[in-house]
Amino acid sequence: MTRIVPGHTMGILGSGQLGRMLAQSARQHGYRVTVFSPDGDSPTGQLADEAFVAPYDDLDAVRGFAAGADVVTFEFENVPEATARAAAEMAIVRPDPTLLYVAQNRIREKTAVEKAGYPVTPFRAVRTAEELEAAVVALGTPAVLKTASSGYDGKGQRRVDAAATAGAAWVSLGGGECVLEAFMRFERELSVVVARGTDGKVADFGVFENHHEEHILDATVSPARVPPEVAEAARDLAHGIARHLDLVGVLCVELFDLGGGNLAFNEIAPRPHNSGHLTIEAFSVSQFEQQLRAVCGLPLGEPIRRAPAAAMVNLLGDLWTYDVDGTVVAEPQWATLLRRPQTHLHLYGKKRPRSGRKMGHVTVLGDRPDVALAQARSARSALLASA
Ligand code: AMP
Repeated sequence: MTRIVPGHTMGILGSGQLGRMLAQSARQHGYRVTVFSPDGDSPTGQLADEAFVAPYDDLDAVRGFAAGADVVTFEFENVPEATARAAAEMAIVRPDPTLLYVAQNRIREKTAVEKAGYPVTPFRAVRTAEELEAAVVALGTPAVLKTASSGYDGKGQRRVDAAATAGAAWVSLGGGECVLEAFMRFERELSVVVARGTDGKVADFGVFENHHEEHILDATVSPARVPPEVAEAARDLAHGIARHLDLVGVLCVELFDLGGGNLAFNEIAPRPHNSGHLTIEAFSVSQFEQQLRAVCGLPLGEPIRRAPAAAMVNLLGDLWTYDVDGTVVAEPQWATLLRRPQTHLHLYGKKRPRSGRKMGHVTVLGDRPDVALAQARSARSALLASA
């Protein structure tokens, strides 16, 4: 397997905060960084040696970008498969574009995981009004209708409370390819971030517990407060999926903990994940360093905990104060947060905050998950207090 050692160039498709934190790790390890996305002055572009700004379907521009890289990876799974394939004409692309193709469509990913023998949230593919009707009959209500592709942070989702409202929900999502899922009354949401190297070795960071607000990840706690057998089952499932999909890179598996030892697969992301941001401070090797190591064909690190517990909270644009025109009139109180011990601030360099936009995150290390979570939340609240 080809090794891309320090001094070579890492190419990143996509230019958000995940690419930024990968670029930070790549820089630390002596790599050059080049990035491709439609956005100028991006979180990743600010840290790259070279930034290509062009639409993803400008395949000649993609080839030009990849020609200057030794290995290309992606930080965003909605990069079109054709873009990843064009890059693969010029450079090694890891994970393989086929994995990207599977992960960017909910029907394909759920079918692949179900075929591999793992428990999946009951679902039906919906492409026509007849399929929608049959799906509602099969799964009952409440249910959740989701666009098959391009959805994230709860975008492209509608809860369906009664059969009579399913049609309107589908129309409001554009009437295209969707998936209808049974509404799961889960106890907790869990995720496992797993890395797999070119040598087939697999490593994870244990199980994370995730709390969402308005479908957007709000907080992650590590380790998840679940019995050891549930944690083992979640890790086994994530390792199995990584092997089954022949992953080289990092993959996040999101699961619902249904109680009684039962887990149901929700979705995968073939890249580092928001729930893994706390690995930067909480483990001896972060999810971004694992991604770098894996896609470069280098040995994975062994993640060793640096504290018994950690919690991460996202900082959304709602922490800024705006006037009626949307102009920022007050910044969060950064100094208040920076006075707190074991509290680590990350900001992504996004120029324009707005409500719901992920602007940064805070990680707090501690002795117990509940205390770390309470302190992370209180650190965030302190941003709104007067200095
Ligand atoms: P997703 O984009 O599929 O990760 O969904 C975003 C969030 O919506 C999840 O993290 C859950 O909190 C919620 N959700 C998604 N699917 C379901 C489901 N089938 N049943 C209950 N809640 C769901």
